[in-house]
Amino acid sequence: MIVLSRSRRVFAFDGDSEPALSVRAGASVRLETADCFDGQVQAQDDVLDALDWDRVNPATGPVYVEGARPGDVLSVLVESVDFGHQGVMAVAQGFGVLSEAFPEQLHRIVPIEDGTARIADGVAVPLRPMIGVIGVAPAGAPVSTASPGRHGGNLDTRLITVGTTVYLPVAHEGALFAAGDLHAAMGDGEICGTGVEVSGSIAVRVDVRSDLRIEEPVLETRDLVVTIASAETLDAAAETATRHMAALLTQRMGISLEVAVMLMSAGGDVQVSQIVDPLRTARFALPKSTIAGLGGELL
Ligand code: CA
Ligand code: CA
Repeated sequence: MIVLSRSRRVFAFDGDSEPALSVRAGASVRLETADCFDGQVQAQDDVLDALDWDRVNPATGPVYVEGARPGDVLSVLVESVDFGHQGVMAVAQGFGVLSEAFPEQLHRIVPIEDGTARIADGVAVPLRPMIGVIGVAPAGAPVSTASPGRHGGNLDTRLITVGTTVYLPVAHEGALFAAGDLHAAMGDGEICGTGVEVSGSIAVRVDVRSDLRIEEPVLETRDLVVTIASAETLDAAAETATRHMAALLTQRMGISLEVAVMLMSAGGDVQVSQIVDPLRTARFALPKSTIAGLGGELL
């Protein structure tokens, strides 16, 4: 498999950046990724105060995908996620919910063993690996890898894990895909601003869909189709994700808006991805089983 080293990492999704690698549509590529602190916190006595906060949430890339053109959709199947035996979590003022309670920045090195992340003695959380940052170059100005948006980016959506396909709207030739910010575990909300942050690697298969039109990220898991949106408020993000799902249903499944919203209201779920990034991220999750009787393909 083609491997891209973590030395090729970026701190913004940018249509003007030079590709680190060019691959054919349908190729699999392994991205080696740095953790959200860019490896600056490795030990319990590393000082978080000395952190260079311009070096957060690096993404490895960008990968130029041949044949991807503006208006297309890049589909990214997550084939595997790997990481080592140590993660890090942190709390700090201005960083996450309850941050006012922490005048000093604190961090913990979190051992990963026996399928759990050990946060403190007697406090172990089951591993739930996921990808925090995944995206393509946005239309318009570059976007920091700390922020989510229509291009993807720091979506911090725990459904982005092995087996999930992420659909991203292409705004530039080649899409300029990048990903990073692995978490060994993260809950919906990511309330303290960090999951169990790990370096590692991500293997994906990238493909180009010219038959699909989306304006915001969409996910497909084994059981769900999920629209994702980010906005200043969680309310606005949830409403945009909901509108996007309704549009997909009416455009792709040939049902009326009336039936779509009733179906979504009765059988779908508004969910929270994260409430700590520069924009908030929400999603609308629709079980595939609710539309199985319609025939046709939502994606
Ligand atoms: Ca993140
Ligand atoms: Ca993170």
